[in-house]
Amino acid sequence: MECDKCPSEAVMHAAYSGLHMCEEHFCASVEKRVRSRVREDNLLPDDATVEDPETWVIGLSGGKDSVVLTQILHDTFAKDPRVELIALSIHEGIDEYRDKSLEACEELTDDLDVRHETVSYAEEFGVEMDDVVEEDPNNMAACAYCGVFRRDILSTYAEEFGADKLLTGHNLDDEAETALMNFFEGDIRKMSQQFDSSIGPFEGADASRTRGESDDFIPRAKPLRDIPEKEVALYAHLQDLPAHMTECPHADEAFRGEVQELLYELEERHPGTRHSIMSGYEELAGLASAEYRDGTPDLDECDNCGSPTTGEFCRKCDLLETLEAV
Ligand code: SF4
Ligand SMILES: [Zn+2]
Ligand SMILES: [Zn+2]
Repeated sequence: MECDKCPSEAVMHAAYSGLHMCEEHFCASVEKRVRSRVREDNLLPDDATVEDPETWVIGLSGGKDSVVLTQILHDTFAKDPRVELIALSIHEGIDEYRDKSLEACEELTDDLDVRHETVSYAEEFGVEMDDVVEEDPNNMAACAYCGVFRRDILSTYAEEFGADKLLTGHNLDDEAETALMNFFEGDIRKMSQQFDSSIGPFEGADASRTRGESDDFIPRAKPLRDIPEKEVALYAHLQDLPAHMTECPHADEAFRGEVQELLYELEERHPGTRHSIMSGYEELAGLASAEYRDGTPDLDECDNCGSPTTGEFCRKCDLLETLEAV
């Protein structure tokens, strides 16, 4: 099959757009969509200057998504002195798996000459995920502990590095899954929070609604969220990027798995479903954010670590205490 834009052979067919694309046109299209998202969400504000650049911390796990994100942002901004990129990797204490993916992170950041920092749960909290899974004092999924610890490290270190924004490699499938999970849980407040913390356009964007920013958290953004997972994987493969492809041995988000399957079947039968879920979700989350904005409670500081929280202690400190008690 021929590329729709040139006589070269197509390497992919996107059912949702009907397009066949050759390697060159496919890669250019991925890059263009990421750059459009950066522009549309106004990630780089007008007041960023050479003297006062924007610092973006990228959560780099070594998986295909964050590797592709780092590569494209580097290609886009390496020569722009208004943006400084720092890659932050986390070792959760998942032996085989994370050691391998950190090698991929090292290789990529060495190639690109991007500053790279690594923090581990062991140094930071005195725990390793391999042990947490064994002990599991709260009878929870591994990812429920791991997600809380990861968010804490990303925020703490993004702040330490003076980050203006924290960027993660969530792709279209990840985002459509999260959107559906929030729908199914009926959690409109969560949608509003997600709009304000990570998907709403920043002030100054040419959009009908922008996010309500808070001083409590470093704003997040997901520039890959228009790119389907398979296309991220294909891009990483075609560009020969050092991405680590195996799955974490503790991955066990059961509900997400069900939603993933459902979404896969829907997309097969009705191409474009993921895109339409997201456009409706963003609209709704923006409306919810405007509705709830004034009623959002002020956050206190955790009595133990100072992180923003609604209670006396933050979730991370609560979990660490239960683990210490084992
Ligand atoms: S899959 Fe779950 S346990 Fe494994 S690294 Fe991700 S969040 Fe942590
Ligand atoms: Zn082509
Ligand atoms: Zn705390």
